[in-house]
Amino acid sequence: MEFYSSFASREDACKVFDEMSQKDTVAWNVLISCYLRNGRTRDVLMLFDNMKNEGVCEPDDVTCLLVTQACANLGALEFGEKVHRYIKERGYGTARNLSNSLISMYSRCGCLDKAYDVFKGIGEKNVISWSAMISGLAMNGFGRDAILAFEEMRKTGVIPDEQTFTGLLSACSHCGLVDEGMEFLNQMSKEFSIMPNVHHYGCVVDLLGRAGLLEQAYRVIISMKVKPDATIWRTLLGACRIHGHFTLGERVIEHLIELKAQEAGDYVLLLNIYSSTGSWEKVSELRKFLKDKGIQTTPGCSSIELKGIVHEFIVDDVSHPQKHEIYNKLDEINKQLKIAGYVAETTSELHDLGAEEKANALSYHSEKLALAFGVLVTRPGTTLRVTKNLRICIDCHNFAKFLSGVYNRQLIIRDRTRFHHFRDGHCSCNDYW
Ligand SMILES: [Zn+2]
Ligand SMILES: [Zn+2]
Repeated sequence: MEFYSSFASREDACKVFDEMSQKDTVAWNVLISCYLRNGRTRDVLMLFDNMKNEGVCEPDDVTCLLVTQACANLGALEFGEKVHRYIKERGYGTARNLSNSLISMYSRCGCLDKAYDVFKGIGEKNVISWSAMISGLAMNGFGRDAILAFEEMRKTGVIPDEQTFTGLLSACSHCGLVDEGMEFLNQMSKEFSIMPNVHHYGCVVDLLGRAGLLEQAYRVIISMKVKPDATIWRTLLGACRIHGHFTLGERVIEHLIELKAQEAGDYVLLLNIYSSTGSWEKVSELRKFLKDKGIQTTPGCSSIELKGIVHEFIVDDVSHPQKHEIYNKLDEINKQLKIAGYVAETTSELHDLGAEEKANALSYHSEKLALAFGVLVTRPGTTLRVTKNLRICIDCHNFAKFLSGVYNRQLIIRDRTRFHHFRDGHCSCNDYW
């Protein structure tokens, strides 16, 4: 059966799978892992259901592990919970790797209490269990708790690994703990002989960027022992946007170009750095350059999972069957939020490369549509979880903050780089992202 996994394309695997007369669990698992590797995560969920409904062979612990990973990638909590129930029913619950994967899944769905429940239930926690919990705490903004968990882990004699330090460093970054973060970076190589990789450095750059230490962050990247990747440069670019540092922003773009990794989104950030510093001449220069080069932005896309179904929205989406109700709801929300002091910002941030032309036109970003849909179809007080493919903009971030307060709802938005937990009018990122 091994040969399936060597199929380069999903189509090949699918074809072979369809032609098989006897589909056993291993064949299903190979197919599912093939979909997962190719980013067809929604189909993975469908396959899991099909496999169960066909009833010829049952999903085993490997299937569950793969599907849990798909749920984590999608932020599909309800489906994840369904898989978790299945795991318990089948008695797979004792497998430590499954539990570890469930911790990651719940954390990435922004559901930390459930992650912690799974964590507590593991008899002998290994370094993966601890790292999953530490990373979960860190990515959800509980930096200090992550450091406490690390101290507890050390007491139990478990030796940290690369993942543990990724979690710890991102924890420091979330809480702005510059000294502690630099100390962990030191400690990992000196005490545990773990050479920092590009992810570790990425956390440090984020940490320094957050603290406004941009030049120091730049020096960290330049002096790294590993080759900087596009992500780390993008992290610094994000910091330049927050702190309005356009000369460094330009230098960063040069590095991205050198890596041939520059994306439209990077230029949008640079445009925003220029506009936030009032450098309008540079704004129009850059616009012209992008137009000449034919560079276009990736459309934003947000998804929200309700009753186990993932709904996707794009900007100004009119494809949803309930579009009229959604837009009416959005109008109503806008009115309510305005009373509370929300001001829609269409000019302060350029949303896309064509923003100039429609600066005053009312445009709805996909996350607003997903949120309005969530408010529309769920009971008051229900937590809404939205996953977005790009960075959330200032206006949508503001909108979500007000929404969480006025409608008394917890909102969890996972954007391209991080989690935002909105509650009572505040966000866990402390307005830095
Ligand atoms: Zn937006
Ligand atoms: Zn936020």
